[in-house]
Amino acid sequence: MSVIVLFVDGVGLGERNENNPFFTSATPFISSILDGRKMTKEAAGKDYKYASLIPLDAGLGVPGLPQSATGQTALFSGVNGAKLLGYHLNGFPNKILRQVLSEYGLFTQLQKKLLKGTFANAYRPDFFDELKQGFKGYYSCSTLITYFGGLPFRSLDDLGRGEALYMDITNTVLRRLGFAVPLFTPQEAGKILIEIAGRFDLTLFEHFLTDIAGHNLDKALALETVKKLDAFLEAVLQDLPQDDLFLMISDHGNLEDLSQKGHTQNPVPALVVGKQRALLVELLAKSGSITAVTPALLKYLAGNGD
Ligand SMILES: [Zn+2]
Repeated sequence: MSVIVLFVDGVGLGERNENNPFFTSATPFISSILDGRKMTKEAAGKDYKYASLIPLDAGLGVPGLPQSATGQTALFSGVNGAKLLGYHLNGFPNKILRQVLSEYGLFTQLQKKLLKGTFANAYRPDFFDELKQGFKGYYSCSTLITYFGGLPFRSLDDLGRGEALYMDITNTVLRRLGFAVPLFTPQEAGKILIEIAGRFDLTLFEHFLTDIAGHNLDKALALETVKKLDAFLEAVLQDLPQDDLFLMISDHGNLEDLSQKGHTQNPVPALVVGKQRALLVELLAKSGSITAVTPALLKYLAGNGD
């Protein structure tokens, strides 16, 4: 019984119109698990045969557009970082949020329950060089919860052995940077994630080209990103073991509305797949906020509703 959490940065539930690449692009796999629907607002709040799509509020009760540091803190710790600061913080967590993540980060909380977590993303050599010179703290939330949880970081050597994934799924970005790593198809990447997940209670993978594509307002790139995500989801979910659970989540909207450059106020999708999903779905739907994700996962993994 393991859990895979796919964190996609900057993906909200948008309208059924020409500005939403999740509506305009063919997403055969997503449509197949949503009874022929595209992943839009209209499809959310429903249980389908193989999946449930729950809309989660990313606004955190604080005025302004939701941002990454506060949104991801909420996702990966359950603590409303935006309320704590009084504003939405973009980029990397500040000292206050880092404190929250060190105490309540998902991996720290898993360890307290003697559960094994892992972050499947591979890091480039410069990250390890930097870390050797001392921990400076200017990292994304996922890196911080991995560090504070005392977990090892995966490297490009791990990636070469098929024991890690790069954030862009296929390694295109790494190869463009000159790293001699194999090109993965979304299908191969999906198999690698499933294999890693089999050895842990919870495996997190982060994909953030979605947010970059949204900021770029590049329709072709947006369509390609959505297509790749659909193929990756198919690869992961067609091999998902019967008793395993899959959750795709996001920190705020962006890519689903290409009529504007920044983040959106749209709810974000919690896409849950797996036979055993009822408790997780119930907890997420009851709260309706991204702050529910970490506590709901912990309750699910503890196997009870306490
Ligand atoms: Zn962004």
